[in-house]
This record gives sequence, structure tokens and C-alpha cells, in this order.
Amino acid sequence: MRIYDFEQGDGKNKKLLGGKGAGLCEMTRIGLPVPPGFVITTEVCLEYYRGGEKLPKDLMDEVRQHVTTIENKVGKGFGDPKNPLLVSVRSGAALSMPGMMDTILNLGLNSETAAGLAEQTRDERFSYDCYRRFIQLFSKIAMQADGEKFDEKFEQYKERYKANYDTELTPAALKEITKEFKQLCKEETGKDFPNEPYKQLEMAIEAVFRSWMGKRAVDYRKFNKITPDMASGTAVNVQTMVFGNRGTDSATGVAFTRDPGTGENIFYGEYLTNAQGEDVVAGIRTPKPIIEMRKELPQSYEELCRVREILEKHYKEIQDFEFTIERGKLYLLQTRNGKMNALATIKTSVDMYNDGIIAKNEALLRIRPEQIEQLLHKTIDPKYAAKPVASGLAASPGAASGKVVFDADTAAELGEREEKVILVREETKPEDIHGFFAAQGVLTSRGGKTSHAAVVARGMGKPCVSGCEQIKIDSHLKLFSIGEQSVKEGDIITVDGSTGSVYLGSVPTIEPELPKELTQVLQWADERRKLGVRANADTPEDAKKAREFGAEGIGLCRTERMFNAVDRLPIVQRMILAEDDEEKNAALATLLPIQRKDFIEIFKAMNGLPVTVRLLDPPLHEFLPSMEGLLREIADMKMKNMDTREKENILRKVKGLAEVNPMMGHRGIRLGITNPEIYEMQTRAIIEAVAELIKQGYDVKPEIMIPQVSLASELNAVRQKLENVTREVMEEKGVRVKYSFGTMTEVVRSCLTADKIAGFAEFFSFGTNDLTQGTFSFSREDAENKFLPRYLAEGILMNNPFETLDKDGVGRLMRIAIEDGRKVRPDLKVGICGEHGGDPESVRFCSMIGLDYVSCSVYRVPIARLAAAQEAAKTVDL
Ligand code: PEP
Ligand code: MG
Repeated sequence: MRIYDFEQGDGKNKKLLGGKGAGLCEMTRIGLPVPPGFVITTEVCLEYYRGGEKLPKDLMDEVRQHVTTIENKVGKGFGDPKNPLLVSVRSGAALSMPGMMDTILNLGLNSETAAGLAEQTRDERFSYDCYRRFIQLFSKIAMQADGEKFDEKFEQYKERYKANYDTELTPAALKEITKEFKQLCKEETGKDFPNEPYKQLEMAIEAVFRSWMGKRAVDYRKFNKITPDMASGTAVNVQTMVFGNRGTDSATGVAFTRDPGTGENIFYGEYLTNAQGEDVVAGIRTPKPIIEMRKELPQSYEELCRVREILEKHYKEIQDFEFTIERGKLYLLQTRNGKMNALATIKTSVDMYNDGIIAKNEALLRIRPEQIEQLLHKTIDPKYAAKPVASGLAASPGAASGKVVFDADTAAELGEREEKVILVREETKPEDIHGFFAAQGVLTSRGGKTSHAAVVARGMGKPCVSGCEQIKIDSHLKLFSIGEQSVKEGDIITVDGSTGSVYLGSVPTIEPELPKELTQVLQWADERRKLGVRANADTPEDAKKAREFGAEGIGLCRTERMFNAVDRLPIVQRMILAEDDEEKNAALATLLPIQRKDFIEIFKAMNGLPVTVRLLDPPLHEFLPSMEGLLREIADMKMKNMDTREKENILRKVKGLAEVNPMMGHRGIRLGITNPEIYEMQTRAIIEAVAELIKQGYDVKPEIMIPQVSLASELNAVRQKLENVTREVMEEKGVRVKYSFGTMTEVVRSCLTADKIAGFAEFFSFGTNDLTQGTFSFSREDAENKFLPRYLAEGILMNNPFETLDKDGVGRLMRIAIEDGRKVRPDLKVGICGEHGGDPESVRFCSMIGLDYVSCSVYRVPIARLAAAQEAAKTVDL
């Protein structure tokens, strides 16, 4: 079947009917007041594309039959001048893509039906207002005319007739506008505006199908990683129009069954009387909070409260629904699972579990781990006495600073140069989407908390202040003013989407505290997951923070960061530049106590938990000045007749250490082989630190990790040397130190010879940054700014392999390494410490293939905890 009446469709089949269509069918079935209509399936959309962007031959015949069904239900005729049936034509894919595809309202109007509607309703103003809206929308969407031209013309009319609001235009003026609009359509498109309702319907259906591949929709799917198996094609919903613009007893609005900003169990929504749905979403008029309806339209309010209850009970999820009240009668036009920010998703999930509505696993699976990052968003430092210069609605939480830009293209341009920007608009439209991706935050002067800007920013977890009416924007002059003050493009402002405040300049921000509901969810996650979660941390401060976030140890402590500290670097350089062993040993002896102290502090912070210390990895020339810098310095010194011998000495050494391909060069264990004294010093520092802490009563679990290993024999050679050192220190200190010795698994050969390597390693830690480089032969730095964007844009790669594990390639190497390694050493501990350790999808994969733990940057620890639990929860009863 290609077309389903709302009574016929299976409300669970979102893939076939789209989210909106499925929702309409389901609501019809549970007896809610839905205006009659039908759904053309997503499969027809695919057929449309397969057929070279043509509607299937006999589709319109089927459509006619279903329109007849509607006509019979509502007692009106499509195209009947005396009693015209008008319909809306809306898109709706399997996954919600708010505002990304097209919608047409009031379809079926022409000069005759508009006149008839005017007579029938005894409301000429209403009829011609519908008609002008229809021509405007249809010309833009179905005939691809420039929508702004219509907006401009409409504004001119409002000025000419001194109308502040659309509602103040007289019927005669509106009639005139419809004529002008049809004329404008002809000028813009070279085609006559179609009068015949079925022709209109056919064009509208095609337009909706076309919008599936529109730039906005394609960008949105890419950003949200919506793959064809998640949503393929859009359905088309054709539905009887009901009117919220038929006087003061009519209204339109959107509501959430709970507050999507805080998750509180209160009815939340906005409405406008005497308006159509697009007015609310587009933010053209600022709507009123739903609570005001209790006074204004008490009966409808009561009905809405009942609907709220029915919807939540039925769906067991927070619903975001659209409604219209036509002359006192309530209709529902859409429902979908409410998109909420992280706090609200977490709070409502915990509340619904506590109320016995959902199970614990459902609560865990409902939260997207990526969302947690929003809760780690910064807030304005309360100690900072900044005074906001303006305030609007707190539309999406978090605080951000950046340069003011007034259009999405500039935002995208600056964003590409890694500049921080705040997108400032009167209101945003779906075509601004690329600006949202690039911006740190969004500020609009119009629109409510459910305006386009607010909804999109919340979905992306970006701060947004909307409806900030104090600011007056002049996008031509590229400035906005607040009273006397003006702010130009490029000036820095700060927006706080948690309070609605706007500040001039960059205001200091502080790290947030984790809400108690998150702590609860993470506790549930910890009960479920089998995978350990550690942090990559190089300093005691990071280690402390990691513990606060629930890390169960450090999976990677990169010691080179310690070498780079300002007080150490000269000593490290002395060691590298030493002419003889004596000089080198003296430098190493100076470094030893410093390293020991570093380790003492980190081990203390991680008391009772394992700490993996990776011995030096980068090539030595990274610690020396650059060749270009030295050459310049020497030239300068020569001009001033200074003694350049020392600098030239350094230059010689730098030249000697230079490599064509340093990432594949003299680094990691290769340094350990050629300069054993460095690893020996580091090992001594570790064991001495542990010995001292054991004496103080600490419980230290050190793990010594060697990077860049490709041969079992090289690992064995280094291990022998280091074991001599550990033995020596233990004897000197008279303390027995338990430690484990392992390797990073980050070279392809180490995966392929894991059985041999496991003979000398008690643990493997996948260094998937290097392993990905090696597997693809992509150098990360070059790939990410040269060719990867193109691969992603063309869909050759679905994900950046440096962010999300390449399961087929890198993942396969990991599986081989785990399997072969454990054959030789069944208790081999296996972890991951590349960037992927904090990416939810990669974490799930790691859990699935049997890793013992993931290690990720400190702020991603909560994300990894939840992702790991989700993988486990899926395999447990639901
Ligand atoms: C890795 O290669 O994945 C890794 C963690 O090491 P680094 O990023 O320091 O090279
Ligand atoms: Mg590495």
C-alpha cells in the first residue's frame, strides 16, 4: 500500500509512515481529536527518486480516492467553491528533522474557493489571509520563488496600510495582496500560479519529496549522523486544515508534557490566539505561556491538560505536540517524543523510573551519552559582577562568548577559521542551520522558547537567548543597538542561555556541578556496565577531577607533558645536547627527583586505583628549538657580532635529529632502545615514588607502559633493562613494589603479532590514534584539514575515523590482538587510551569486543560510563 488513512496506519511504523504520520495515525487510534487525513509512505519517496524525480504514474489516482474519503468525512469538497476543503501537505521522515523539510498550508484555495470560503465563514479577512499565506508559501516551496521577495512585499503593504500586525490588514488589502503575490510568482518563476486544486496537490507532494534531498535536510542528516537505515525518504501527510486564525476563540500552539528545559513535571507550552502554526514556530509574534490560556480559553485549557495526560500515559515518553483551536474546538496536529536538553532528559528519565512508568534500563538507554557533555557546560562565574546589557528568554542553557555575526554564512566562514562567534538574528530560519553548527551561541531579538532558534540550539546543546526585544538589529549596517549603545559585527559579546542575559565583552565562566539526577543515572550505569572507565590525565589536578567524574584509574599518563613544563625543558635540552655521558647523566640526575615528585602527586590523587604511566614517546627534537628559529637567531646574533658558537652547536644537533617522517621515526620504544638511560631514569622515578608512598601507607597500583612497540624482541630487550632498575630500587629502598609491565598497542604489526608480544606484556592499551594513522596510512594532521572533509561530505566515509573507531579496519586489528594475546596470556588486561575511548559509539564497540576498560579525556568520563552501560543494558532484559 502506498497511502494510508490515519485510521489505517500502524502508529509504530515510523520508517514507513514517518514520525509525523505515525503520530497522527496513533493519536487517531487512541481517540484524540485529529483532523482527518492520510499518509503517503516514505517508500513512495524512494520510488520518486528511483524514477528520476517523478511521481509514480498512478499515484495521483490513489490520492484522489483518499481525498474523496476525507471529503466524505468532513462534508466538504476539494475545490468546491461553496464549501471548500482545504488541506495541509507536510513532510515527515522516520526521525524528526524539525524545520528541515517543507510544509504547505491552506492548499485548495483559488479565486473561487477563496470567495466561497469568505462567504461561508462570513469572514473575508480570514479567507484572504489564508489565501495570501498559501500563495506565499506555495510559490516559495513548490515553485521555488524567492520567499524574501514576498516577505518584503508584505511588509510594504503593512506600512502602506499602517498595520503593525498582520491582523490589522483589511480584507480589501489582503485581496489586493493575493493578486500582487500571484503576479510576483509569475515574475519570479515565469509560470502562472496553479488554480486547479489537484494540480496544487500534485506539485506540493513533489515539493515535499524534493525537500528530502534539499541542502538543509542533507546537512542536518550529516550533522546528526542520520544514516539511510535510520531514515530513508520522507512521507507526505495530507490533512484537513483547521484554523487557529478564525478570531479570538481560535488559537494555535505547541506544548510539551513536561518542561523541556528543566525536566520539571509541569505543563509547558506557548500559544497565540488568532494565528496559524507557522507564526509560533517562526517566532514572528512572541507567543504567550500556556498557563495564560487557563484564563483566556478555560475550556480548551482543560481539554489540553487531559490530552497531556493521555499522551504521556500512552507513549511513556515526554511528548512535544502541536495543537490548534478553531472556534473553541481543540485539534491535535502532531506529537513526537520531546527533544530535550541533557538535564531535562535525565531528570524526566529518573522521575519516570521513580514513578514506575519505565524500567531502569529504559531510563539508561533513553539518554544519549553525548548529551551529558551539555551538563558539563560552563556557566557565568557568579563572583564576576558583570551587568547584563540586555535580557531575553533563557532558551538553551550554557554560556558562551564570541564575535558578533549577523548571518549564517559569515558564521560558517569564521567558524571554519576556528573563530568563536555568536550568531545574532531577529529570528532564525531553517536555512541558517550551517550558522548554528559554526556558532558558539545564538541570540535572537524575536521569538519564544519554542521558536526555531531555541529548538535547534537546544538540540545541539548550544547556548541560546531568544526574544531579546531590547536589541534592535540592523543587518545591513551589521550592527545592533541597545538603547544608545551599538554593537558592531566582530565585537565580542557573551550570552547566557541559562538566564537569558547578554553581556558585552567576554565574561569569565566556571565549570558546572553535576546535577543529582546525573549522579543517579551514572550510578545505575555503573551497576550495569562491565567495562572499566579510566581517564587520560597527566597532572594531579586532572587526576583529582577525573576521580570526581568517576574514573577508576588513569589509563594514560603522558610523561612528555612533564618534560615540556617551563622549569624542566632546559634540563631536558641539556640532556639531549650533552656531549658526553657525564653531562647526560648529570641532566638525568637533575630530572629524576622532579619526575619522582610528579609521580608521587599523581599516585596520591589516585590512591587505590591503577595508574598507567607511559614512558617517553615523542622524538627528541620536539624538545629542542626549531631549525628555522635557530637560523634566524644565529643570523641576528651575527649582525650584532655576538658569539654564536653555542647556538651553532645546538643547530648541529637539531639537524642531526631532524627526520623526514618523525611520526614514524625515532620515537617511543626506539628511543628506549637507543637511549636506555631515559627510560631507566623514568622507571627509577616511578618505583622510588611508589616505595615512598607505600611507606606512607598509600595503596599504589603502577603500570609501566611502553609506546610504539612493533616487535616482541624490542619489548623484551627494554623489559630486561627496566627490570634490573626496579630490582635495584627495591633493594635500595627495602620495599617490595608490585607493578605491571605492558605495552601500547598502536602499531599494526603489534596487533598482528600480539601472541608474541603478550609473552612480555601483562597488558595492552590500544593507542587508536596512531593505530588509525597506521591502518589508513593517513597522517592525522594532514587528513583532517586536507582530504577528510571531502570524504565525509561525499559519504565515502560516514565518520571521521579519528573520532569514531573504524570498526572494520582498526576494529578488526583490535579483535585479532585481543584474541591472540589472550591465547598466550588468558588474564591479559586490555584497554584503549586513544581519543576513541570517549566516543560513545566506539565505547560500545570496545565493550562488545571484550576490552577491560576505556580511558578517555577527563570530561568524557561520565559519557563513557553511560555508553558502556548502554551496551550492557542492550544485552540484558529490557
Ligand atoms: C594513541 O596513539 O592513541 C595514543 C594515545 O598516543 P598519542 O596520542 O600520545 O600518540
Ligand atoms: Mg600514540
